[in-house]
Amino acid sequence: MPLLARSVQTPLHIEVRRGAVADLGKILADGRISSGGEVAVVVGPGLGEKVVDLLRPSLTSAEIFVTGGGTLDAALELSNKLRSGHFDAVVGIGGGKTVDTAKYAASRWGLPMVSVATSLANDGIASPVASLINDGIKGSYGVHIPFGVVVDLDFVENGPELVNRAGIGDVISNISALADWELARQVRGEPVDGLAASLARMGAEAVLTMPGDMSDDAFVTVLAEALISSGLAMAVCGSSRPSSGGCHEIMHAIDSLYPATASHGELAGMGALFCTFLRGDERRLKQMSDCLARHQLPRTPSDVGLDADQFVQVIEFAPRTRPDRYTILEHLAMTPEQTRQKLAEYNDVIASL
Ligand SMILES: [Zn+2]
Repeated sequence: MPLLARSVQTPLHIEVRRGAVADLGKILADGRISSGGEVAVVVGPGLGEKVVDLLRPSLTSAEIFVTGGGTLDAALELSNKLRSGHFDAVVGIGGGKTVDTAKYAASRWGLPMVSVATSLANDGIASPVASLINDGIKGSYGVHIPFGVVVDLDFVENGPELVNRAGIGDVISNISALADWELARQVRGEPVDGLAASLARMGAEAVLTMPGDMSDDAFVTVLAEALISSGLAMAVCGSSRPSSGGCHEIMHAIDSLYPATASHGELAGMGALFCTFLRGDERRLKQMSDCLARHQLPRTPSDVGLDADQFVQVIEFAPRTRPDRYTILEHLAMTPEQTRQKLAEYNDVIASL
């Protein structure tokens, strides 16, 4: 009997709207995740009190845990605390650090995890990956995909605008990551997962051309859904391939060599634009450049404070951040001199767009 279809693990419940945090008790009950609200709620030090005030009326039996730092140590400490209670699920509420800490801690005991995103900084909201710092280095740890994914637009609206806008860069970097995947198929015969590619592509194409900005609910909803689809794409193929190519190698290299230069999404967007230039795809370059400019996101190394020498080092180092991932950077294998030349051309082209 041939296998006629595949089973895909996805969250049971996805909800993007205003007022979601206040309705969390109902969302957990309706989603068959916790009928009585016996859950561990994990919050960051910043948002903690506000979130707890909103939650309490609908989640009277919840136990609150405060975590900070986004480190592997913090996740292990949280995981040890979770062991002492009996919880239906772990609910991580906050930005990437808090959600990823909760994801990792829940995954360790096989507890269902609900991701409640209060910002749209990157595609970690629904992904089966926790990005945590260990010994000063950011690592990606495989975890179970969240059972529920909730985005509360009230929090997104009141959060730091740049943090949320950065998610746009992370989403549109999928276009470059998918081009890298296709290149790896052509050059090395690497299989491309069509379903994963489609999930990663659709949201990116929507965000790339959709009018509106972070003050527009329709745009913010599409951005949130695109970030969720990116996470699902990674879950479907069991790797970050659909959402991470040369763009993310550049981002990881900058993070390693020049920490705290800019956020994940800002650097992924800029890296994607540079990789698209290297591919010589003029139509895509113009589309992506327009999108990043429209949302005031960085497009060139100098926009994030890196000079030519530093960027040449970044491109040298980039392939080492994801060994065996074939992208336009490995394909061209440019010498430092060639990179310097390409960067000069790139800066001229971007300035003329
Ligand atoms: Zn990313």
